[in-house]
Amino acid sequence: MERIVNPEKMRENSRTAKALSKRVGFVPTMGSLHQGHLELLQRSVAECEHTVLSIFVNPAQFGVNEDYDNYPRNIEEDLELCKANKADVVFTPTQKEMYPNGFRTYVDTNADYINVLCGEKRPGHFRGVMTVVAKLFNIVEADIAYFGEKDYQQGIVVKRMVEDLDMPVEIKMVPTVREEDGLALSSRNAYLDTPQREKAPFIRKSLLLAKRMIKEKDVCDASEIKRSILDFLAEKGIEDVEYVEVADTDSLMPLKNINGRCVVLLAVHLGEARLIDNITVEKRR
Ligand code: AMP
Repeated sequence: MERIVNPEKMRENSRTAKALSKRVGFVPTMGSLHQGHLELLQRSVAECEHTVLSIFVNPAQFGVNEDYDNYPRNIEEDLELCKANKADVVFTPTQKEMYPNGFRTYVDTNADYINVLCGEKRPGHFRGVMTVVAKLFNIVEADIAYFGEKDYQQGIVVKRMVEDLDMPVEIKMVPTVREEDGLALSSRNAYLDTPQREKAPFIRKSLLLAKRMIKEKDVCDASEIKRSILDFLAEKGIEDVEYVEVADTDSLMPLKNINGRCVVLLAVHLGEARLIDNITVEKRR
């Protein structure tokens, strides 16, 4: 396994692999790797002859009062995990290389889905995400890039960007990897103390409750679903809910009535950790 820091060298490495008719698979991450990241890595290794995993904590996607400075960083351990999981390259550009003095260009969208959910609560977040992902795609020149369903809105944003800007890369979404108790793996779980960690699985349980209401009890009223989630979480001691929404699976627009497919998404704060999760539900017709 090779570690590459320089973007030019990274591009050269991918081009060499492609010249040998290898497909380049790409897993962009912010590091502090866990089994969720490794699932994406394993998918890429299984499907592509050459796999690149990037580690870059992207300042452009953090708000001023967010956790950029404290975001967990574990580079040595990450390199070991990548090696053990058969990555060919770990790309770890520096901030200076990604955003040199004079950097002025960002990728943005005026789509409605940017103004809801995480996009509404974290202004500028997806602009930062699109910009860094576009840059990484231009550097790595991957054939296939792997993203996690845990970041559902990010998946929508990235897929639209790739289509709108004719980027020659296929996006594959990978199901959320969870702890045994249902908590979605996240680098931010490291912020949880023991009592918070004990509460955290109720996030997933509240989504499963919503799923049962929609599928088994035929509840169509989205506001009833949202109220039940909030009541359930409050009962379990999770009061700081940033948003909970029932939305269209493609447009992400909030639904009033559920008929057919929908996605239930939420973000909660547990101490220092801001945790997100979602569940897609297909309603019986
Ligand atoms: P991050 O390092 O948090 O930016 O995540 C990098 C990639 O890993 C993104 O595509 C995430 O959606 C994905 N990811 C993070 N957590 C999980 C998880 N628990 N299961 C599957 N994918 C995940």
